[in-house]
Amino acid sequence: MSDGPPSLPGPGGSRSGRSAGLDPRAQRGEGQPPNPVDLHTHSIHSDGTLAPAALVQEAAQRGLRVLGLTDHDTLDGLAEAEGEADRLGLELVPGVELSTGGQGGEPEIHLLGYFVDREDPELRAGLTGFAGARIDRMGLILERLASIGVPVEPERVRRLAGPGTVGRPHIARALIERGHVADMREAFDRYLASGRPGFVPRPKVEPERGVALIRAAGGVAVLAHPLGTGEVEAVVARLVRVGLGGMEVYYGEYDERARAELGAVAARWGLIPTGGSDFHGPGVKAGRELGGPPVPATSVARLRAAARA
Ligand SMILES: [Zn+2]
Ligand SMILES: [Zn+2]
Repeated sequence: MSDGPPSLPGPGGSRSGRSAGLDPRAQRGEGQPPNPVDLHTHSIHSDGTLAPAALVQEAAQRGLRVLGLTDHDTLDGLAEAEGEADRLGLELVPGVELSTGGQGGEPEIHLLGYFVDREDPELRAGLTGFAGARIDRMGLILERLASIGVPVEPERVRRLAGPGTVGRPHIARALIERGHVADMREAFDRYLASGRPGFVPRPKVEPERGVALIRAAGGVAVLAHPLGTGEVEAVVARLVRVGLGGMEVYYGEYDERARAELGAVAARWGLIPTGGSDFHGPGVKAGRELGGPPVPATSVARLRAAARA
């Protein structure tokens, strides 16, 4: 179990608070410390466990220099994260993650949008729509659970989500609290996963629409964790047509071989290789520790340039 105090950083530690201007090249040489770039993380504004400022502090303690915040369907955590990043001398890369596809048993396609214009009315309306659809879906899931004798209070689920977007993990936590299940895994395996009695499919958003929303808001659209999307090359071919700009190659859970293969796909299609840990909080998901995968600094420069183009 990992129920200890989650506030202290992992290996490497924070000997003197701030890491005193270490040359990233020197860092890379010895013993694989956390990488200074991580472009895929979540805060409490979606399904992470840390507030944006705490997430940035955690990143600073682990020696990161560049942090991308990519909450699901919301830009609400960015201002707080930016304020803290300024204070600690980190570079914050503003982002968002959109869930698309996933109808009728087909895999979900997640899209990361970097450097979007946060005031873009169409993007804002799109995100509001996604959030509304999420709330409707959560209501339907709770109705189903109640109908099979596994009730949880909607109010409790909302409180567990805090300021963030409501998701199935929050329902799972409510199920655990009520003693219906022992842990998160059982909640999904018995009730919430696809094909289980509490499952309600998400409303369909075409991935093309996700790419278009990001692009129209001046951002760069990046295919997240591509190995989860089924036929990677087919998905890429489909989305490059509508302006996909990058693809995650250096993803937390991918081994070197997967990274090499995905790197080749990205190169073939002229996509910017990006990546990150998909961190949701200390100890929340194995293999997704902050600063895990080796994301090159050039990815950030290329994303920025593409966003301005
Ligand atoms: Zn995702
Ligand atoms: Zn994510």
